[in-house]
Amino acid sequence: MLSAIGKGSGSFEIWLCDISSKEFNKLGSYDAHDYIVTGLAWAFGGRCLYSCSQDNLVRSWILRDRCLDEVPVHMPHNNNSSSASDDVYDSCLGAAVSPGNLVVATVHCFDVEKLNRMYEGRVLRAAIEYHWIGGLHVDICLNRPVPFYTEELSGLAEKDLTNWGSNIIWSLNQYQCLDRPLVLLDIILALLDFKVSMPRYVEHLLIKWISLSFPGFHTDLPNEKTLLQVSSSLSGVPSRMLHLLNIICRRVMLAQLDADEITRISSEVQNTKGECCSMDEQVTKWIAILGSSERELRERLVGFSFCASQTSKSRPGATPFQTGHWYPVGLAQMEQWIALNNDHVRGELKSIASEVTNEKRCSAVESCSYCSASVPFESPEFGLCQGKTSGSGSNDKRHKLSRCAVSMQVCPSIPLWFCVCCHRVAFRLAPDPLFRMSSSQFDSDFVTKSLSRAVSSKPLCPYCGILLQRRQPDFLVSPLPFYSSYNNIKHNKQWNIYIAN
Ligand SMILES: [Zn+2]
Ligand SMILES: [Zn+2]
Repeated sequence: MLSAIGKGSGSFEIWLCDISSKEFNKLGSYDAHDYIVTGLAWAFGGRCLYSCSQDNLVRSWILRDRCLDEVPVHMPHNNNSSSASDDVYDSCLGAAVSPGNLVVATVHCFDVEKLNRMYEGRVLRAAIEYHWIGGLHVDICLNRPVPFYTEELSGLAEKDLTNWGSNIIWSLNQYQCLDRPLVLLDIILALLDFKVSMPRYVEHLLIKWISLSFPGFHTDLPNEKTLLQVSSSLSGVPSRMLHLLNIICRRVMLAQLDADEITRISSEVQNTKGECCSMDEQVTKWIAILGSSERELRERLVGFSFCASQTSKSRPGATPFQTGHWYPVGLAQMEQWIALNNDHVRGELKSIASEVTNEKRCSAVESCSYCSASVPFESPEFGLCQGKTSGSGSNDKRHKLSRCAVSMQVCPSIPLWFCVCCHRVAFRLAPDPLFRMSSSQFDSDFVTKSLSRAVSSKPLCPYCGILLQRRQPDFLVSPLPFYSSYNNIKHNKQWNIYIAN
């Protein structure tokens, strides 16, 4: 482990610490600043260090052969990154590196003498500056250097694009460590920015990431072949990588579509077997990839639920599920889902499910929380109630109800959890081992090991792996009921909003 220690004199030291043997080796001391060092931040796994001080300087260092070399701190990603306000700062109060290591943020204190005392001087105290550092050449050893050629006009040299490429891949891969929460804002922001001017570069980069990092994929395949492989062979890919892929699909490659549009197009693509020509080919391609990745995760969740139910029954005498442990809910709905997708679902999963459900069959039909009509199982995402038949014989409105992302059951009218990425809702929590699965193999060893102590995960989305949120009622901010009545206002009629209990 590397550590850096800043001093009041303006110098800092770097030490190499071996935690297991409790050995500390000083690698060097650097007279970097004139005043007290106020911040030190490592980036790229200790290959790069940022130092800042009361002298208002931010310096950037690269660690090569146990020595720090200074590199220029401004790595302009765009031409507009030069700040005109540098000279109004008095000192630097601290530095921090973003979760994906692509941005460094520094906090600066204003020199009040240089501000207008009447105006800015009264309100401005400090400012935060952000610099892109993803273009830094940090000698990250990927297995093989990745050429990032592009014919697109970018204003960036090929060398910079290669650096950005390998740094973003490094950054994505650090999330293979399961203890690191998925916070991808800087990666998404950088990819979206590149996508505006160089969409093919972004796609090339992501395919390179997939072929370098997904087990069983080869780097020498052409891009299109790799994408085909993604749709067909995800069973050996860890759940964490699928979560990363899903987020990137939704937030970068399909960023122009919202979650509902993605669901709509994806069902259209499925129904027409990919032959709907109205859609952009680029869009349908990534929707198909997202679809197969989410299907893979759903199969894992369903398989895990059936395994859990099976093992709990095979242990005689033991209470089926101890308090505090995770237990499967929605098996009837999951069985229905397998029946509906009989052609696509893996044989292994079908056999696990049939063993469990042979013993006990329960109905997957639920009742609507609004009108208490029955809700048959048609899709894992939502259910349509049959609607109450009123006395006159005409059908009332059918209610569309969201299903829980974890249990596939119809959610109560106010679901507990909401995913900002895929817009799914949930009122149950997924089992923690789902997020730790390295493949879809349900061998007996995995099951007995993980089920005996399976607990509910933190509130994480089973499809995106990010933290779920409490859903805020829309009416606090949404002008929707007023807008829908807008015609009435124009025509100067009275209008009402009906409030349901
Ligand atoms: Zn209903
Ligand atoms: Zn989600």
